[in-house]
Amino acid sequence: SEHLLEIKNLKKTFPLRNGGWFGKKERMCAVDNLSLTIEKGETYGLVGESGCGKSTTGRMIVGLTKADSGSILYEGKDISKMSEREFRPLRKELQMVFQNSLSALNPRLRIGEILEEILQIHGEQDKAKRRKRVLEVLEKVGLSEEHYFRFPHELSGGQVQRLGIAGALIIHPKLIVCDEPVSALDVSIQAQILNMLMNLKKELRLSLLFISHDIGVIRFISDRIGVMYLGTLVEETDTETLFANPLHPYTKTLFAAIPDPYIQGGEFQALTGEQPVRTEDFQGCAFYSRCPYAKEICKKQAPEFREVEPGHKAACHCIEK
Ligand code: SF4
Ligand code: MG
Repeated sequence: SEHLLEIKNLKKTFPLRNGGWFGKKERMCAVDNLSLTIEKGETYGLVGESGCGKSTTGRMIVGLTKADSGSILYEGKDISKMSEREFRPLRKELQMVFQNSLSALNPRLRIGEILEEILQIHGEQDKAKRRKRVLEVLEKVGLSEEHYFRFPHELSGGQVQRLGIAGALIIHPKLIVCDEPVSALDVSIQAQILNMLMNLKKELRLSLLFISHDIGVIRFISDRIGVMYLGTLVEETDTETLFANPLHPYTKTLFAAIPDPYIQGGEFQALTGEQPVRTEDFQGCAFYSRCPYAKEICKKQAPEFREVEPGHKAACHCIEK
């Protein structure tokens, strides 16, 4: 059957900030050779350190950033190759929620006006219908009619993120990319918002791509998890399997950083230092420079991202299965 979203060999480069050697314009690969699928009704968690390409991936899916190459099939159609005009009718189906929703809001508009404006942009001409829909969606995200006349700066951090979610929900999307939507909030507020998102997903049969650097948050909300490192996926499986049986050395270093005696990275240590830069002539395994298991072959040959056991993929030369 058809996947809701199918990404194949996605690549996105940016010019390197410092130009590179001898005036040669080097580019860095933010995303390289990335393939993943998201099913209808699924929450797919994308986890990795900041700068690993998670946000760029999310932005390409919702059409905010154009891929260099590869494909993004949404309900079978390649949206990565579409013109602005072709993509327009799909825009409402693919929405994004950001870490700081406040920065995207017009501070002079009231909450109700902000949400009504989104409906208007997407073609709802009837003012009464807009108003009705706004009140409906405010209630869905745990706000109320009372917030309709408030200004964004009068809301708490958690309420602002609820408003950001309302802004995505209001036009009936099928997939929402949530990019660190709770990362700026207190832990107790995080749990409330994550529970709300899980309930909304079920009720509205949404699919979520949930992006976070926080492995605890990702574990809580995800059905399946993709572990991303230096622009590419290194491991992917369902949540239970990943925590019971992590296979990739990078995943194990991530787990080693969790202060939980029941989740262990074995002999692995949490990583320190910075990720290297992935340039276009990059070769070998993405994790080579920081991997305690690295061998000679890892430097020259990129490990294939392969199914190691049913439903469990990893990219590493040292996994024997
Ligand atoms: Fe480490 Fe080699 Fe596996 Fe890469 S392929 S994760 S460098 S052992
Ligand atoms: Mg990011």
